[in-house]
Amino acid sequence: MNTSAPSGAFLPGAGTEAPETTEAEVRAAAAEAATAQPGWAARAPGERAAVLRRALALLAAPPPDLTDLFARESGAVRPKAEMELGAAMGELAFAAGLAGQAAAPAALDSTVEGRTARAERVPLGVVGVITPWNMPLMLALRSVAPALALGNAVLLKPDPHTPVLGGRFVAWLFRRAGLPDGLLHVLPGGAATGTAVVEAPQVAMVSFTGSTEAGRSVARTAGGLLKKVSLELGGNNAFVVLADADADAAASAGAFGSFVHSGQLCIAVGRHLVHRSVAERYTAALAKKAEALTAGDPADPATRIGPLIDERQLAKVRAIVADTVAAGARLVCGGTAEGRVHRPTVLDGVRPGMRAFDEEIFGPVAPVTVFEDVDEAVALADATEYGLAAAVYGGDPETARSVAARLRAGMVHVGDQTVVSEPQLPFGGVGSSGNGGRFGGPAAVEAFTQWRLTTESTPPRRHPF
Ligand code: NAD
Repeated sequence: MNTSAPSGAFLPGAGTEAPETTEAEVRAAAAEAATAQPGWAARAPGERAAVLRRALALLAAPPPDLTDLFARESGAVRPKAEMELGAAMGELAFAAGLAGQAAAPAALDSTVEGRTARAERVPLGVVGVITPWNMPLMLALRSVAPALALGNAVLLKPDPHTPVLGGRFVAWLFRRAGLPDGLLHVLPGGAATGTAVVEAPQVAMVSFTGSTEAGRSVARTAGGLLKKVSLELGGNNAFVVLADADADAAASAGAFGSFVHSGQLCIAVGRHLVHRSVAERYTAALAKKAEALTAGDPADPATRIGPLIDERQLAKVRAIVADTVAAGARLVCGGTAEGRVHRPTVLDGVRPGMRAFDEEIFGPVAPVTVFEDVDEAVALADATEYGLAAAVYGGDPETARSVAARLRAGMVHVGDQTVVSEPQLPFGGVGSSGNGGRFGGPAAVEAFTQWRLTTESTPPRRHPF
C-alpha cells in the first residue's frame, strides 16, 4: 500500500497500470486496519474531525496538475473536474461535521424495575469501499470520509481506470492530513480484488458504488457472509416535461442532464418524457443545444464533451444508438464519434422495447419519448427496472409536485433535471438502483455505524434458577 506519495508524484498519467492487489495483501491490510481501528474510534470526535478538515484544506489548494489528471485519467472536461473537486470538498466538510454525531448515547426506558438502558451508534469496525471511475474522487470520499469520521478504518478499492484519482490521491490526501497509520488502505485491482475486500473476515460492511450487475455479485458474496452492504447502482432516470413547461428552459435542463460528463453519471437524464404539445419545440431546442457543444480534447478548456472512458463503452453507446434507430426511432442529431468522443446525440420516437429506452446508456445520448397525459408519463417513467432519480419540469409547481409524488425513485426533483446531489441530502435508489442504503445527511450515520445497547441493573438482578 502506498499512502506516502509526495505532491505531484501521484500523477503518473492516464493508462498507468496500477498493480493488482492480491488476496493475501487484502487480508493483511484488513488485519492491520482492524488493529488500528479501536484506537481511532476512541479518539475524541474533534480529533477525527480535525483530520478531515485538514484534508479539506489540502483539497481547497489542490496540486496544480490535478485538473490535468482529471482529463488524462478519467476524460473529464474542465467544468466537470471543477464540479467534482467542489463536490469532493463538500463531502469532506460534511463528514467533518459528522464526527461527533454518533457519540451521544440515548437513554431509553426499561419496563423492568431497577434496570436502565441506553443505546448508541458505534463504528462498524473495518469498512470496505469499492468505487467506479466516473466520479472517482468524489465517490471515494462520499464513503471514505464519513466512514473515517465515524471511527471506522477503511479498505478502498478504486476502479482500474482511475487508480490515482480514486485511490492513491485519496491516500495521499489523508496521509498529509495526519490520518494515523493503518486506518486507510488503498488496494488497486479489479473484480477479484473487490471480491477479496468483501470476503476479508475483518470487513464488517461494504459500501459499493457501480453497476447493477457487479452490485448483485457483491450482494451475493456479502449476503452469504451476513455482512451489511450498501449498494449504489445504475439508473435510467426519467425527465418528465409537462405540457405547461417553457420548452427552451426545459431543453436546457434536459441537455445538461444528458450531456454533462458525456452522460457518464448514474443520475444522468436517461429518458426525456415530453408532453405531445411541447415535444416538437423541446426536441428542436434540445438538438440545437447538443449541436452547439464543443466535443474533443478534455484538456482544452473550451471542450464540453470529452471522450468516453474506454472503447468498450464507446462500442456499447454506438450499438444502442444504431439498434434504437433500426427499431424505428429517428436520429435527430449526433450519432457519430471521433476516437472515443461520441457527439451529443438526440433520438426521438423512442418507445419502450427500444434499447435507448430500456437500458442505462452511460453516454451523451438523449432519447425523447412523447406522452399524451400524466398517467402515461408516470407509467413510462416507471417502466424500467431502475429507480434512482427522476425529475419533473413544468410551469405550475402544484401540478409538477403531484406528478413527482407518483414516481418510483429514491430521489425526485421538481423544477430541475436529475443531476442533483449534495452531501447533506440522502442519496440512493430503489429497485435495481440499490438496496435502500443511502449516503448523505442522517443516512451517513446509519450507513457507517450500528446500534449497541447497554443495560444496567442495580443492584444486580437475581433470577429464578
Ligand atoms: P462496475 O460495476 O463495472 O465497477 C465498479 C467497481 O466495482 C470497480 O471498482 C470494479 O473493479 C468493481 N467490481 C466489478 N465487479 C466486481 C465484483 N464482482 N466484486 C467486487 N467488485 C467488483 O461499474 P462501472 O461500469 O465502472 O461504473 C458505472 C456504473 O456505476 C453505472 O451503472 C453507474 O450508474 C453506476 N454508478 C452508480 C452510482 C450511484 O451512486 N448509484 C454512482 C456512480 C456510478
